[in-house]
Amino acid sequence: MRRFFSRYVTRQKFTTGAISKLKEQPRIPVDSIISSTTRSTTSTTHPSNEKFMLILGKPGGGKGTISSKILKDFPDMEHISTGDILRQHVRDETELGKEAKEYMDHGDLVPDEVMIRLVLDYSTNSIGNGKHLLLDGFPRTIKQAAALDESINVDVVVDLNIPTEIIVERIADRWIHAASGRVYNYSYNPPLNHGKDDESGEDLVQRYDDKPKTVRKRLDAYDKATSPLIQYYEKKGVLKTFSGTMSDKIYPEVKKWLNKMGMNR
Ligand code: ADP
Repeated sequence: MRRFFSRYVTRQKFTTGAISKLKEQPRIPVDSIISSTTRSTTSTTHPSNEKFMLILGKPGGGKGTISSKILKDFPDMEHISTGDILRQHVRDETELGKEAKEYMDHGDLVPDEVMIRLVLDYSTNSIGNGKHLLLDGFPRTIKQAAALDESINVDVVVDLNIPTEIIVERIADRWIHAASGRVYNYSYNPPLNHGKDDESGEDLVQRYDDKPKTVRKRLDAYDKATSPLIQYYEKKGVLKTFSGTMSDKIYPEVKKWLNKMGMNR
């Protein structure tokens, strides 16, 4: 597992448009660039005031919404969402996208090895550049968390605890614009025109994995594979749980805590 985080990096910095180019990027041994970053293959420290932050929570539990609020208030933060990256690969019909789609459509987790590699590819250049990093959707298993621990010190973990029945209701109301990934919700963030994307006017669709049967499987996967991470990070003293149903109510508490944890930009 260590191999994935320590031996290879790509030069590619994350931007949505660059995702399809990712697999053509040359992979270079990390040792050859290590002097140009402050990252070490064995150390778990990272430089200056950079914080490495995770957001955990059930599927449909507001990770995306809270993340976007954090990004507005903390402009020195890069955001990596594994769900968004995977969906972009699916849209671009890359090899990875085709493989991942099978798992995602069925509400299953994409294999750990694939995810660890993917996160490495996207996060390497975000470490040591003076910015905080917010990882959303990773880790999702203890194995992924252990792999992350080999390279990085996790400073802050926001755990969102939203009641399951609210999630099931909300996911049924969630519609997206497939080409851009823009997300709407008919109960609290409706499009200007019913069923149409605000910017392009194109039809909205439901995420395939937002169908009720698949949602139940995703929630099961969360309970079995991901919820043990709460204890894992609690033991490290870096996790705080935020409970509630409305992100507007939860977020001010999250912000307060992030400031307390030393994030002030
Ligand atoms: P949600 O949290 O609402 O389930 P995401 O957008 O984070 O949605 O993820 C969508 C799907 O992508 C997941 O159901 C899973 O199939 C896959 N996925 C995302 N991140 C991971 C990960 N770290 N490990 C395994 N599978 C993942």
